[in-house]
Amino acid sequence: MNKEFIYKQLLNILDEESIKVDEPMKKHISFRVGGPADFLLKPKTEEELSKVIKFVKEESIPFIVIGNGSNLLVKDGGIRGIVIELSDNFNNYEIEGNIIKAQSGALLSILGRNALKSSLTGFEFAAGIPGTLGGALAMNAGAYGGEMKQIVKTVRLMDREGNIFELSNEEMKFEYRKSILTTSDYIVLSAVIELQPGNADEIKETMSDYANRRSTKQPLNFPSAGSTFKRPEGYFAAKLIDDCGLRGLSLRGAQVSEKHCGFVINPGDANAKDVLDLMFIVKSTVNAKFGIMLEEEVKILGED
Ligand SMILES: Cc1cc2nc3c(=O)[nH]c(=O)nc-3n(C[C@H](O)[C@H](O)[C@H](O)COP(=O)(O)OP(=O)(O)OC[C@H]3O[C@@H](n4cnc5c(N)ncnc54)[C@H](O)[C@@H]3O)c2cc1C
Repeated sequence: MNKEFIYKQLLNILDEESIKVDEPMKKHISFRVGGPADFLLKPKTEEELSKVIKFVKEESIPFIVIGNGSNLLVKDGGIRGIVIELSDNFNNYEIEGNIIKAQSGALLSILGRNALKSSLTGFEFAAGIPGTLGGALAMNAGAYGGEMKQIVKTVRLMDREGNIFELSNEEMKFEYRKSILTTSDYIVLSAVIELQPGNADEIKETMSDYANRRSTKQPLNFPSAGSTFKRPEGYFAAKLIDDCGLRGLSLRGAQVSEKHCGFVINPGDANAKDVLDLMFIVKSTVNAKFGIMLEEEVKILGED
């Protein structure tokens, strides 16, 4: 890959500040680990995004799209090719009646705050999840009995040819921490969310109850990607890990959280290998004791 050629071509599409070269991914993911991406791009419009997509296809450059990086673990060798970040550059939204129309980079926390301001109920579960709308749709993010599947009406997407199309809720094929985006490489541009008129005091109370539960039970003061493993059918990952005696287990810079065994955290200066090696120990110990193979919820990207 000729980086100089790629950089020059990208400058025909994006302004200089939207193109970062050899960008440390630890600055862009909540785990705060991981090596550099060859290029990290922040297009500001759908037109810029579509031009980037067409260019990378023509040149056969691998690329991935990220939001707020709160469900990612990037390996220490970093990411070859292009990372497209759709976050604060792609975060417009509007509320009309009980409908929120938002771009993929809008933060769930901001949408939640505004749903409350408009006395709309249904978004309470999502307001404390530290991701963007695009990431939440990709993961069918959920908490406290709610999930994105329950509130999404339609999603606008872009395919790898730059075509824009819309999918209905059913067509998004939402399942537990999965959607059509798990097996396709469509990019979420925006979505329509349908909420219900509610009582602002009750919405506020529910949101603060969930926020309190999070801060009491989760190690929010340390970098992590939230729950490291998915919930195995009929079990809780955190309980299985605790029952293996792994609470607080440290491996070099990484640790199984003392506060919540389902979180592997980076309490100081972990690198990705520390985290991955600890995850391997957790998985093999749980499998040896209970015969259950935990599956990662966190998405692992990049190379060693
Ligand atoms: C402290 C903490 C608590 C958490 N609590 C919860 C919780 O309660 N429930 C829960 O479900 N998750 C939770 N998470 C995990 C995470 O916040 C969610 O999965 C969130 O939805 C990820 O959004 P993101 O924007 O950060 O996505 P990223 O981490 O950037 O990306 C996640 C996936 O989405 C894809 N993606 C991102 N944007 C787009 C786009 N525009 N188009 C196509 N694909 C895209 C990426 O390629 C990647 O595969 C928590 C994480 C932390 C750190």
